[in-house]
Amino acid sequence: MAVCLGMAGLSGTAVAAPVATNARLGEHPEHTRFVLELTETVDYRIFTLAEPNRIVLELPDIEWRLQAKAGIKGAGLVTSYRYGPFRKGRSRVVLDLASPAKVDANFIMPPEDGKPARLVLDIVPTDEIAFLATAGWPDDAAGAEPVPPIDPVEEAKPVDNKDGVFIIALDAGHGGVDPGATGASGTLEKDVVLATVEALKTELEARGNYKVVLTRGDDNFITLKDRVRAGRAGKADLFISLHADSVSDASVHGASIYTLSETASDSVAAELEESENASDIISGVDLSGENDEVSTILIDLAQRETKNRASVFAQMVLPELDKQTGLISKPHRFAGFRVLKAPDVPSVLIELGFLSNVTDEERLTSPKWRKGAARAIARAVDDYYAHMSSVAETGH
Ligand SMILES: [Zn+2]
Repeated sequence: MAVCLGMAGLSGTAVAAPVATNARLGEHPEHTRFVLELTETVDYRIFTLAEPNRIVLELPDIEWRLQAKAGIKGAGLVTSYRYGPFRKGRSRVVLDLASPAKVDANFIMPPEDGKPARLVLDIVPTDEIAFLATAGWPDDAAGAEPVPPIDPVEEAKPVDNKDGVFIIALDAGHGGVDPGATGASGTLEKDVVLATVEALKTELEARGNYKVVLTRGDDNFITLKDRVRAGRAGKADLFISLHADSVSDASVHGASIYTLSETASDSVAAELEESENASDIISGVDLSGENDEVSTILIDLAQRETKNRASVFAQMVLPELDKQTGLISKPHRFAGFRVLKAPDVPSVLIELGFLSNVTDEERLTSPKWRKGAARAIARAVDDYYAHMSSVAETGH
């Protein structure tokens, strides 16, 4: 153990960012208290957001070393919380509220007598009207940086099998302040899917005929729309989003693949759709500028062909994943995941397994298993590439 708990502030380690070492939630008669322990004092600010009701604590760059289960269980007015990097140089803690509430007192105490710095929020109930009156974005603070609008859709891009390279966008789900699903033993979805994306990148690049672009290569938060944008900007021929989710039924296990549909194909799909699309909301992103109608129209117009291609790839992945890990029943499913909505990039979302299932959680934490899964998906990419190249050659 290199970490000496409680002594971090005195140990003199040369870390650039302050370290968050512990977080606590306590229910008291007068308030719910949230305490974040840090190696040093930091600047911070607090704001509240409605629908769903949240308190956002914004911090500078922080190195997060909280316990794996931190934030899963709530207390008092707080049902749960999440933390992590948000944008370059910024971190967030997002506290979900059981009912309208406000921060009644907040302060930060410097380290002393071997104790770390403590940032304290005392949260008290308020009424709905008062909550809504003050909830909202700080002036400078939309959740996402301004981004250029998506280009109008042109005709579906033919596969370039002649002189260009075949480009694959790999998207590790969640990240940063959004951990995704959590396994029974504390495994975080954002970590295992990033590790699998790295393994898949290695597999694909070793073949020499693919270029890989990543939506995220580290533990960072990215909005769903920016993931789609990254695939389009990278001129990807195929977009693969990797997830390892959680559903209420712990017996559900095995892999599955999703392609885009406006309506979820069944209750499992609907449950996952809701949790995946909530990614931006739980992270405290301003969605007020989003216009779903536009993207719906674009999709309708376009891009039957794009969806067909995604389905072709899905059919190629399934037998490979079946050999590797087994599949859920009806493993090709349909849902309205936002991340699949690029109108001109065939996009799939692979659920590698379920962290809510003990066996799947064990597999996902194994580097050997992840390498096997990466190989399985890479073989399907080979099949798909060969198929699309032959289609391009024959003109069909
Ligand atoms: Zn996920």
